Amino acid sequence: KASPLGSSVIPIVNKLQDIFAQLGTHSSIELPQVAVVGSQSSGKSSVLEALVGRDFLPRGNDICTRRPLVLQLVQTKSKSSGGSDDEWGEFLHLPSNHRIYDFSEIRREIEAETNRLAGGNKGVKDKQIRLKIFSPNVLDITLVDLPGITKVPVGDQPTDIEARIRTMILSYIKQPSCLILAVTPANSDLANSDALQIAGNADPDGHRTIGVITKLDIMDKGTDARNLLLGKVVPLRLGYVGVVNRCQEDILLNRSVKDARSAEEKFFQSRPAYHGLADRLGIPQLAKKLNQILVQHIKALLPDLKSRISNALVATAKEHQSYGEITESRAGQGALLLNFLSKYCKAYSSLLEGKSEEMSTS
Ligand code: GDP
Ligand code: MG
Repeated sequence: KASPLGSSVIPIVNKLQDIFAQLGTHSSIELPQVAVVGSQSSGKSSVLEALVGRDFLPRGNDICTRRPLVLQLVQTKSKSSGGSDDEWGEFLHLPSNHRIYDFSEIRREIEAETNRLAGGNKGVKDKQIRLKIFSPNVLDITLVDLPGITKVPVGDQPTDIEARIRTMILSYIKQPSCLILAVTPANSDLANSDALQIAGNADPDGHRTIGVITKLDIMDKGTDARNLLLGKVVPLRLGYVGVVNRCQEDILLNRSVKDARSAEEKFFQSRPAYHGLADRLGIPQLAKKLNQILVQHIKALLPDLKSRISNALVATAKEHQSYGEITESRAGQGALLLNFLSKYCKAYSSLLEGKSEEMSTS
């Protein structure tokens, strides 16, 4: 469950992100979000999927994530029926209110939309795919799934693929408002981690980087990740969380996310090496940690966001005036935008003054 502040602050931030995304990519407002970084096949998409609790991301032993996917989770009130109709996805590139209830259809649409821009042969593009997931079972949070770091060009990839992917990743994680999940598989050397290396580039003080160690289940026999998780190998200010997600066989056999969570729990209970580390183990702990950090982060950003939005409002008002007697549709759009902006500025003001009980998000 999100903390009370989390549930009132984050929906507004999500709305703002939508508005600025519609305004175009050159938004001057950097809003907090969470991005996953790491090498290809380190388990980034699996971590995000586990945080959402549903199957819908392309995953596999090959390059699957080839465009940034901005994933906005929106917590809805749960219906007493608990039926299958209370969770759905909506894409920004599809008509609004086009709800997709079948999560495998969401995955197919991500794949189709990836191919539309990046081609069918392993190409990578930096134009975003934007997807909202509505569910009573998620924390309100925005997550960005990014292509993994690869070294050798394959398929249609250009020779400088590694540099291009690094630049794309950095464009997200260098924003001071971006929280970074640095994903490293437990069966590789942490001191050689691409994830920690690129995260360290963008966030040298480690104020916004959480280490995630995946694949604890397939470490070399006789080894465990206890020292990694305790930060004794590579220290990280915000620490590490170790997780076990589904292997490729589980995916092929259609094992559910729910089964994966109970398997994860059993795994940690059965290994003495992990006893006493409960606050650093498992997807639920990662979700909890993320929400706490995000709320702190947004609190610190609020005053700055407020003044930026006021500035954007003034600039938009000026631009609107400068249109003069322009075609109806253009002016109509401007007025609509102004309405949006002033509404959310008001919401922010009341939030800052601490008098927001329930804010209308309609
Ligand atoms: P990404 O390229 O970083 O997004 O990685 P994916 O999430 O696509 O995962 C790559 C492969 O590793 C898939 O076949 C997953 O099933 C597998 N995988 C991910 N996490 C784990 C884990 O914790 N344990 C095991 N055994 N396999 C995993
Ligand atoms: Mg991926």
